[in-house]
Amino acid sequence: MSHPVDKTGDWRARLFGLGFALFNSGKRFEAHEEWEAMWLDEPRGHPNRLFLQGLIQIAAAFHLAATGFPRASFRLFRSARRKLIPYAPSYKGVDVAGLLPHLDRWRERMAAVAAGRAAPATEDFLLTFGGKGWNEPSPAYAGTAEDRAIFKAFEQYSSDRQVTAPCPRCAEVLTVNGRRRAPAEDAESSWSVVCPRSCVSRAYGELRA
Ligand SMILES: [Zn+2]
Repeated sequence: MSHPVDKTGDWRARLFGLGFALFNSGKRFEAHEEWEAMWLDEPRGHPNRLFLQGLIQIAAAFHLAATGFPRASFRLFRSARRKLIPYAPSYKGVDVAGLLPHLDRWRERMAAVAAGRAAPATEDFLLTFGGKGWNEPSPAYAGTAEDRAIFKAFEQYSSDRQVTAPCPRCAEVLTVNGRRRAPAEDAESSWSVVCPRSCVSRAYGELRA
């Protein structure tokens, strides 16, 4: 679990940058802890939360790749990619569109390592951000029951779990891209959460403010 956080000044931007610095010096587990401290502070359903989850999973995936757990690493690369799709082309100064193909490559690499078809990865990988980083504007967020239900559905879907989140209006279970479970193969490049009775429908491909 995370260390105590000094929540003074512009602490989110500080932790965000610190996470990148740690990640790029090879301290992936420590990077994951900084971003996790930020993630815990974001309201449930806020787009920032899924974005941070994606970064946390990338850090954890590299940590597992380096410590001999290619199968678990594979799953996290897949999950991180799904979570970050709606943030392309960029979010909080991170070039998400440029990052997604790398996540694909590393995911396939981990599958090959797990199957004994490739040697463990040893080359380095750097994560960067530009602009104002965390201080780039976030989308407006009202925090409605619908926001939270949609977030929960996509969180479950992207984490390779069964979607159980109910529609806030009719209680029917929501679907993501028409399904209640993500396909094993990652052909998807956008996502939409829909109530089968059409009370809720939200597509995410554009999360910039
Ligand atoms: Zn409904």
